[in-house]
Amino acid sequence: MQFNPGKYKIKDERMKPFIDSDEIWQYIEDTKNPDKQQVRDVIAKALNKERLSLGDTAILINADDPELIEEIKQGARDLKNKIYGNRIVLFAPLYIGNRCTNDCKYCGFRTSNKYAVRRTLSDEEIVHEVEALEDNGQKRLILVYGEHPHYDADFIAHSVKKVYEVKKGNGEIRRVNINAAPLDIDGFKTVWEAGIGTYQIFQETYHPEAYSWYHLGGKKMDYDWRLTSLDRAQEAGVDDVGIGALFGLYDWRFEVLGLVRHTNHFEACYNIGPHTISFPRIKDAAELDIDPRYEVSDDDFARLVAILRLAVPYTGLILTARENPALRKEVMQFGVSQIDGGTKIELGSYTDTKNEEQNLNKEQFQIGDSRSLNDVIDELLEDGYLPSFCTACYRLGRTGEHFMEFSVPGFIKKYCTPNAILTLAEYLVDYAKPETADRGWKVIEREVNDLDGFKRKDELKNRIERIKQGERDLYF
Ligand code: SAM
Ligand code: SF4
Repeated sequence: MQFNPGKYKIKDERMKPFIDSDEIWQYIEDTKNPDKQQVRDVIAKALNKERLSLGDTAILINADDPELIEEIKQGARDLKNKIYGNRIVLFAPLYIGNRCTNDCKYCGFRTSNKYAVRRTLSDEEIVHEVEALEDNGQKRLILVYGEHPHYDADFIAHSVKKVYEVKKGNGEIRRVNINAAPLDIDGFKTVWEAGIGTYQIFQETYHPEAYSWYHLGGKKMDYDWRLTSLDRAQEAGVDDVGIGALFGLYDWRFEVLGLVRHTNHFEACYNIGPHTISFPRIKDAAELDIDPRYEVSDDDFARLVAILRLAVPYTGLILTARENPALRKEVMQFGVSQIDGGTKIELGSYTDTKNEEQNLNKEQFQIGDSRSLNDVIDELLEDGYLPSFCTACYRLGRTGEHFMEFSVPGFIKKYCTPNAILTLAEYLVDYAKPETADRGWKVIEREVNDLDGFKRKDELKNRIERIKQGERDLYF
């Protein structure tokens, strides 16, 4: 089916939200066919650590010449290497419940999917799932929920606390992020008090009319309630938030500018941007009903990630297992900072490993990368990355860590790299297969040697030894 703009209107025309679709389209129109120098100037500005404006970002979006696209990608690679180095943070999703009162046309959990198998994990099941995740070496989770009165703030807070309680062997979950429905201010306070890391809410599409076309029932039909959700989070004291757009619902160029506009709004109002930006791309799902004109090709996907890296250089970028291993490997170079590994999205499937095949009536969508965490880490090591499970900043109250990595000279060398090394060392001792451990120790040796000027190098070496002797959770 195709969506017909103009037919769907936002509910209350008196409200002037901070996303103005005419304005966004105007930027795209005004920067058509940029010349090479314009594009190069914008890339140079980003490499100079300046934040790009909407107009600058639109110039990158309109650079269709393959030579310029290559330069944009190279710019994103350079920026990543120059500022962040080769660390990649790992996490896993844990679906807590898939009951849902909304009818989103892209999601297998939509209420109109009568064949969906609905399930909510009990406390006991949460414990078993978390134990299984800890046995794989996970330290950071994102809990995922459908939108349902049952999954209110108290329920979410309860499940977060449950997850933190689970300790198996040397395993523990040190950071729990959330992807769930928008809450009111009190609700955000409740989940924040439970000790969450980031609260993620994706706008799905920033285009209000397309949004109406895709959201047919339930509370999620309200574009403004969702768009303003993370402002309520800020008001509640949740200053660690993640935004995202679901690519493939509407024109990708518009969505990139929507994400940048949303970021600008946060910077202007709260003096702090989003902690992370996600760019999930539509995958097959039960009852999927999308407008095929907006499908995003692999090439455009890689391109848009590179543009986001240049446009918002201080924010974490998350690339999930929706994408297949080869594409992840390719796109990771353009500035991704977090990926999931060992991902399973059927409820209860970390414990119940009978069904290897995905069943789309039990899961939200088709994933493209079902490799084990060990295999993901093995490839990262082989490709020269430094896998990390670090949670130090969040636990020491150093919020805005990505911003600090970006803006505080020497921060990465002082904290991020040593902590990545220590968490990788824990993983190698406790969970890695022998050949992965061999590879990993070589990477650690290289990384320690490369830490020129790090005054606490001996202390770092000493802590690695202490980890080998059995101590855990050592960080700077
Ligand atoms: N129910 C909550 C909500 O809608 O905000 C939680 C989000 S959902 C469980 C996580 C995200 O998955 C959605 O926000 C959406 O961006 C993405 N998603 C939904 N259907 C998808 C599909 N078919 N392919 C890829 N991603 C999808
Ligand atoms: Fe429900 Fe979220 Fe799926 Fe929409 S995307 S149907 S709100 S689980």
